[in-house]
Amino acid sequence: MLAMDYRGPKRVRATQKPMPEIKHPEDAIVRVTRSCICGSDLHLYNGNVPDTRVGTTFGHEFVGEVVEIGAEVTKLKVGDQVLVPFNISCGRCHFCQQGLYGNCHESNPMATAVGGIYGYSHTAGGYHGGQAEYVRVPYANLNPTVIPPGMDLDDAVLLTDVVPTGYQAAEMAGIQPGNTVVVFGAGPVGIMAAKSAWLFGAGRVIVLDKEDYRLEFVRNYAPCEAYNFEKDMEDPVLFIKKQTDWMGADCVIDAVGAEAAGDVLQTITGRKLLVQAGSATAVHWAINSVKKGGVVSIVGVYGPTDNLVPIGNVLNKGLTIRGNQTAVKRHLPRLIEHVMNGVIKPKEIITHRIPLEDIADGYRIFSDKLDNCIKPVLMM
Ligand code: NAD
Ligand code: ZN
Repeated sequence: MLAMDYRGPKRVRATQKPMPEIKHPEDAIVRVTRSCICGSDLHLYNGNVPDTRVGTTFGHEFVGEVVEIGAEVTKLKVGDQVLVPFNISCGRCHFCQQGLYGNCHESNPMATAVGGIYGYSHTAGGYHGGQAEYVRVPYANLNPTVIPPGMDLDDAVLLTDVVPTGYQAAEMAGIQPGNTVVVFGAGPVGIMAAKSAWLFGAGRVIVLDKEDYRLEFVRNYAPCEAYNFEKDMEDPVLFIKKQTDWMGADCVIDAVGAEAAGDVLQTITGRKLLVQAGSATAVHWAINSVKKGGVVSIVGVYGPTDNLVPIGNVLNKGLTIRGNQTAVKRHLPRLIEHVMNGVIKPKEIITHRIPLEDIADGYRIFSDKLDNCIKPVLMM
């Protein structure tokens, strides 16, 4: 089968790989029909995620058709069209039982903080992902969700990650009616966070990014106020203070995450690995621009040991900081309803359709923000 293949930082290609096989009676094999590239894939692509091995297939946002099921799969049948949450979760462990599907204790044999994730390095379980014609789906009784009749596959594929992630970002922000919510980042996740903030009762939503075309999109889509932090202001923290009568925002969402900044040595499961440390610009701005007693909600991805936050400000301002990998499954019932009712229109963020064989172009266009790219979808 044709599949994405990681060859090293900024080197990806499509190549022939062996077909995935059922390894456990609860596995299914899915023939992928659409698979997105995510901002999270860019951390891998840039070589910033420890233990990302050459030969790995990335891809954690995909939909497709069930073509084979293991002996113990009872909730799916061959031919079902499914959307597959990016989390691989068992549904039985201590954490899954609490709805913390992103923190499953069974699905990641490396036992790092995160649960299993498709195509997201060996620190997230070493699973191959769905930027491929076929993918093995573990715990198939729990995670895949049959796509409701009438739902567009473009909408369905965005329910595997960015829509629930934006929604959970807003949920974790603890928005009270009328609150001013600031979102750093106008990528797919920031766009969905801004949209979701209104659903939790925000009174005002302000988004900051440095890409004008993304700001223009979110301004119309959410809709919200949107500013370029490189052009419209000297200092984003001061800007937000001025916008909020010098109080600071009630809630701030970080939908940016780490950016590459210098090499550090990290030790993961006893092995020393040279990885890029993340700089924490957005989370610094978030902590410094939220008001005293406010909430900072982090969905932007940082390295496990990034510790660059101004912790004294957290203490002295009495902040609540929340973050997590999104528990996609927990949000799906409500979000499927919002999509079917037109409250959220996910597919409007899709700007590019790219054949799997041209995956290197897809990564380059999305990473370098070429051609006004917001969300690229690989078509199989
Ligand atoms: P993206 O790379 O397309 O978007 C990030 C945006 O942030 C870009 O538009 C960029 O211009 C902007 N930006 C860069 N520095 C900034 C700053 N200092 N302040 C404000 N904006 C800044 O990525 P995406 O797909 O939207 O994902 C965003 C983040 O969310 C990534 O870190 C991704 O890994 C993470 N993510 C987390 C989860 C989760 O479960 N927690 C799920 C999906 C994605
Ligand atoms: Zn993603």
